[in-house]
Amino acid sequence: MKPVEILQGWKKLLPGSHWNLETALKSLREINQKDLSSAKKNLTYFFFANVLSKKITHLLKFRSVLLDGDPRIRNTATRLLKILNFHLSEKEKELGNARLYSMPRKLTIETTRQCNIRCIMCEKEIEPGSNMDDISMPADLFEKVAEEVFPFLGVLSLTVYGEPLLTKYLDRIVELVRKYNVVLSIITNAVLLNNDALIRKLISARVSLSISFDGADRQTYNKIRAGAKYDRVLKNIRRFQQLREESPDGKHCSVGFIYVLMRSNIEEFPKFVELAADLGADYISTAHVVIFKSELINESLLYHKELANRCLSLAVAKSKERGIQLNVPPPFDLSGKSACGRANSADRMKHCHYLWEESYIEADGNVVTCCNHGRPVVGNVYRDSFSNIWNSETYSEIRRRLRSDNPFDCCKDCYIVDGRSGHFEREENFIKINSRETGLKGAAKCG
Ligand code: SF4
Ligand code: SF4
Repeated sequence: MKPVEILQGWKKLLPGSHWNLETALKSLREINQKDLSSAKKNLTYFFFANVLSKKITHLLKFRSVLLDGDPRIRNTATRLLKILNFHLSEKEKELGNARLYSMPRKLTIETTRQCNIRCIMCEKEIEPGSNMDDISMPADLFEKVAEEVFPFLGVLSLTVYGEPLLTKYLDRIVELVRKYNVVLSIITNAVLLNNDALIRKLISARVSLSISFDGADRQTYNKIRAGAKYDRVLKNIRRFQQLREESPDGKHCSVGFIYVLMRSNIEEFPKFVELAADLGADYISTAHVVIFKSELINESLLYHKELANRCLSLAVAKSKERGIQLNVPPPFDLSGKSACGRANSADRMKHCHYLWEESYIEADGNVVTCCNHGRPVVGNVYRDSFSNIWNSETYSEIRRRLRSDNPFDCCKDCYIVDGRSGHFEREENFIKINSRETGLKGAAKCG
């Protein structure tokens, strides 16, 4: 099919829009003449004026035409598709549409559930030897999803459970994210970040690296992150930062830490802020520990609220002093009057960004809506295309019911849509000891 035929096809498919065939043809001529910046401007106008919030599916059908051929054209086309997809996704989220013409902007793929260490709080540990332990996604399944989704995608994250650096086809992943201009985000325990070839590969992909690190002191870290060695991991991080500085791609990378807050490590958290700043980190994110094993119940800061508030406040002050971005949960309410009960529909937020912007694919091919406890399986990419699943009856139904009085079970008490204050005060959100019996999956972000 020739470009002009495609454009004429679009014109027929989009009756009543502010169609301007001349603008579109001019853009294509400019691409042919390699006047890419002018073509980009015109094509952006063309896309926005004609397709936004209209029938993007027709555009999607022609993506292979846009993406074939000259790499420079492909580069421009993929960037334009992402811009278009982003704005369409915003519009559809605002409207609360159940069926979407846009594709996800962020996709998390669990390339492997294997892990090389055994953190004490990891949900994997509640069922040692279960099938959660060893599944990996085959490379050809990953490629199938990538070819379908990456042209529209902003960010690929490589974690649900497991250690992504154990993925056997990391080289291919790096090639694909570079080909489609996708930001690669990796949450890792950094134990395997121990060779220059791997580090250089990740830097060439302009990786956004989030390192799970739960202690400022050697003893605390080694106890929580069982199997990892504090000194070796610090050495790996320092080497990554050194090679990042030496590479022109390094300035496009980011390095941050994820710190799981618990009784064993809360007192050294302000000291950890110092350590992270010394290591040249860009940010620190935190999450309250979710308890899956009864012997760890005292680790929950729900039972040490005053101590937690004091340490978090010291850490915030330290982060300001050192100029490092720090995200912490709100202080606990010490008055004992925090909200309880279920939020009524008027209090519920209208949107969960996950349902319109993101999706998760687990190592066995299951597609799930998010990483929250009890998330439903909405399809499997072994059996179906991702696009079909993204607009399946179940996915659409979850979106539709989110705004109703009868949301899906997983969404009922979810903090994303819960209009009540006090999410961080409620035991049911952080004490999940019974989940082993119910078979529900937890919300721990691993790596
Ligand atoms: S459980 Fe929460 S995050 Fe997941 S889809 Fe429902 S509302 Fe969104
Ligand atoms: S929390 Fe993450 S790094 Fe730790 S054992 Fe679990 S999967 Fe591995």
